Amino acid sequence: MDYKVLRERMIKEQLVARAIKNKEVLNAFYKVERHKFIPEEFRGSAYADYPVPIGEGQTISQPFMVALMTECLLPSPQDRILEIGTGSGYQAAILAELVKEVYSIERFAELARTAEDTLRQLGYKNIKIRVGDGTLGWLEEAPFDKIIVTAASPEIPKPLLERLKEFGRLVIPLGDSFSQVLTVVEKQKDKLIKTEVCGCVFVPLVGKYGWRQN
Ligand code: SAH
Repeated sequence: MDYKVLRERMIKEQLVARAIKNKEVLNAFYKVERHKFIPEEFRGSAYADYPVPIGEGQTISQPFMVALMTECLLPSPQDRILEIGTGSGYQAAILAELVKEVYSIERFAELARTAEDTLRQLGYKNIKIRVGDGTLGWLEEAPFDKIIVTAASPEIPKPLLERLKEFGRLVIPLGDSFSQVLTVVEKQKDKLIKTEVCGCVFVPLVGKYGWRQN
């Protein structure tokens, strides 16, 4: 299978056709080899228009959703970004092409280890991964310019908001466990400006400030 051809087709038919316009974001999608983040048995679906299993009952998000969330963050070269939900490491790699540093937290040690291996093999030096409950944030590295939560939450985890820089942006799917609304939150002095982007479906954010286990 020619993955490069599949990747170019994915960008044209799934991203550009759905109004992903940011040139740098599209470039990152050309560069990052999505199939390398997907378990061998599902690699045939690496460039398909839907989420794909990555183990532990989790999924790598649909390419369009990764692109949309990335665009919503307005990534800029000096940014330090926190991601909650490393999963396969694909979203972290896309961001690492666009910003200075990416910090990513994953609940499942096995997923974090596999993502780390993949990212090391691909040569990324500006991504740090840690195992734990991401809803608590990453105190030692805070504050962040932007935060991206790639799992569904009933509300915005407080510790994340507290560690977001003034004028920072946070992108998060908010809702119940069946469906959510992708929401952009901008922090401005004493207020939060929330913008609803579109409906979406993510696996649950499980943690102290997300869903409780079970
Ligand atoms: N961004 C990923 C896809 C994420 S799927 C990618 O590019 O592949 C959502 C991930 O969030 C899952 O791997 C899940 O285990 C993780 N997750 C759920 N709750 C979490 C929490 N509280 N802290 C850290 N990771 C969490």
